[in-house]
Amino acid sequence: MKIGSLYSPNFNRKQRTKNSVKIIVIHYTGMQSERESIIRLCNPKSKVSSHFLINQSGKVYRLVQDNRIAWHAGKSCWRKYKNLNKNSIGIELVNKGHQFGYTNFEKKQLSSLIRICKSLIKKYKIKRRNVVGHSDIAPLRKTDPGEKFPWKQLANNKIGIWHHSKPSLLRKYRNIRILKKKDKIKFIKNLNKIGYCFSTKKKYFLVQILKAFQRHYRQELINGLADKECLIIAQNLSKNL
Ligand SMILES: [Zn+2]
Repeated sequence: MKIGSLYSPNFNRKQRTKNSVKIIVIHYTGMQSERESIIRLCNPKSKVSSHFLINQSGKVYRLVQDNRIAWHAGKSCWRKYKNLNKNSIGIELVNKGHQFGYTNFEKKQLSSLIRICKSLIKKYKIKRRNVVGHSDIAPLRKTDPGEKFPWKQLANNKIGIWHHSKPSLLRKYRNIRILKKKDKIKFIKNLNKIGYCFSTKKKYFLVQILKAFQRHYRQELINGLADKECLIIAQNLSKNL
């Protein structure tokens, strides 16, 4: 596939090894236009970048080489990994995002993304469970790529994980509160097993993690409340890890 080239200076000077690449982080640009996004990602003052940018027509640009640490994840955590820039490849999708008019991702944009992910997964032997959204790894700060991002479609292409629960069955459990303490504990354990990191210091943390989980796996309702639908989804996901 043809990949265009742009240059972002926003990466660590020191090279990294091929083995350190473990995770793919998907973002949206969250800006008014593609042009503005490119300017920001390439501006030395912004101190942000990514390895790839995919526009709405599916055109792919490389901004930073894979063997460099690009500055896209910020303070973040996934499974045993912390501050994921050093372990990840960042891919930005052009989309105005929640702030400026969040739209569906374009078909061509997604098919380019799938192609890029497939080749990265092969090259770096990235585990399915390590393809994540920015909000999954930084739930307190980030909401991208958001609830319109088709994680299920990606999972159908063996990118990222998805659950095997029947939607019609799941729907019955939406908004049904989890009452038993042992179910609540189990739920949190499962979220943790999937990869979400917990901090006991911040009490609002759980709501934010739940929202991130819902944006990814239960996109119809993002309310930060633990209901039985979420419980079943988390159980199903972690069972297959
Ligand atoms: Zn992001």
